[in-house]
Amino acid sequence: MTSPHTPVDTPERVALRAAVSSFAKGHAPGGPQERDGVRQLWAEAGKLGYLGVNLPEEYGGGGGGITELSIVLEELGAAGCPLLMLVVSPAICGTVIARFGTAEQKERWLPGLADGSLTMAFGITEPDAGSNSHRITTTARREDDGGWILNGRKVFISGVDIADATLIVGRTEDARTGKLKPCLFIVPREAHGFSYRHIPMELAAAEKQFEVVLDDVRLPADALVGDEDAGLLQLFAGLNPERIMTAAFALGMGRYALDKAVDYARTRQVWKEPIGAHQAIAHPLAQSHIELELARLMMAKAAYLYDMGDDAGAGEAANMAKYAAGEATVKAVDQAVHTLGGNGLTAEYGLARLITAARVARIAPVSREMILNYVSHQTLGLPKSY
Ligand SMILES: Cc1cc2nc3c(=O)[nH]c(=O)nc-3n(C[C@H](O)[C@H](O)[C@H](O)COP(=O)(O)OP(=O)(O)OC[C@H]3O[C@@H](n4cnc5c(N)ncnc54)[C@H](O)[C@@H]3O)c2cc1C
Repeated sequence: MTSPHTPVDTPERVALRAAVSSFAKGHAPGGPQERDGVRQLWAEAGKLGYLGVNLPEEYGGGGGGITELSIVLEELGAAGCPLLMLVVSPAICGTVIARFGTAEQKERWLPGLADGSLTMAFGITEPDAGSNSHRITTTARREDDGGWILNGRKVFISGVDIADATLIVGRTEDARTGKLKPCLFIVPREAHGFSYRHIPMELAAAEKQFEVVLDDVRLPADALVGDEDAGLLQLFAGLNPERIMTAAFALGMGRYALDKAVDYARTRQVWKEPIGAHQAIAHPLAQSHIELELARLMMAKAAYLYDMGDDAGAGEAANMAKYAAGEATVKAVDQAVHTLGGNGLTAEYGLARLITAARVARIAPVSREMILNYVSHQTLGLPKSY
């Protein structure tokens, strides 16, 4: 296998990648972990500083960027034990609070998000808005005392049950319709009127998805993160890292599946040579390797641009990286399962369970089609059909 390093890996990043990889391999002897294992892994990774590598040092983080955090997630995934909540808690919520939060909000949340003792979920998706976030209707009404009342419904929100709070994307009452002017609120899990219901998914993952109902949730004035008039800038400060981290999640999984398939193809022998000698088996694996590597390069570019402060450039690259990673991983997992024949579908080898998991990266956090729409309109300047 080629080296997992990318052109932007400094010696520190090479060391981080190696350390996370060896830590993760020690935790994943049998493949993807179950719920208790994930909890333990989260706690240990937090103690080692891996969960907060992107957060400011003055709040207990590692002082790095999304590049470092994506290395952590990719290497965990490549060892078979990805942590989905990394996409949400330090990458979206940690970044948004670090960039736009008040001193008190940073003090309250960042040290815990960095060491993993606090977790924050993120809720933007709504049943009637879906891919069209401009249609979200979760509404915040300002009270006379400066506090807020939130009402709305969210779906598919990951990890609400284990998160201490959820960063909810709403809109203010006077901006209820028209172009989205999002406002971000930290809603504690115990807030009165905040309830959640598990959505059973056909996914073999430890982290679960929930429908969330906000029924007259009363929040203090300082639940609002950032400026209520900042528009999309603050939201995308969180959404671009989410896309880059979803690419890292997918690419780790793709590398894990490909490694398993290559190992198997090297040794499994049913005719004269191991099955890996048949080009019908070898070439699709080689293609997958190339496609994963190409997607990793785009992810590295997106993370680099984001960390350099180029939000606009990072937006396009993050979309493309997420697209490329999702496609490459869906294909790699499919081919890996096929390479193992009947064993590809056994629980012992644990590959078939990745078929649905890999497809998440095609749908969330923004679907393949919406990325193609973005590139058609924003990059290529083609007209819009919707
Ligand atoms: C495992 C998992 C975890 C998730 N975790 C979270 C989370 O933590 N927080 C959160 O907020 N959300 C989360 N989501 C939600 C996710 O972001 C949404 O599912 C996603 O944005 C797509 O929205 P939708 O499901 O409503 O699909 P829809 O918007 O209904 O789309 C359905 C299909 O129509 C296509 N489509 C829609 N509009 C167009 C168009 N204009 N042109 C072409 N095609 C179009 C889409 O590409 C898609 O294929 C999660 C989802 C999953 C599956």
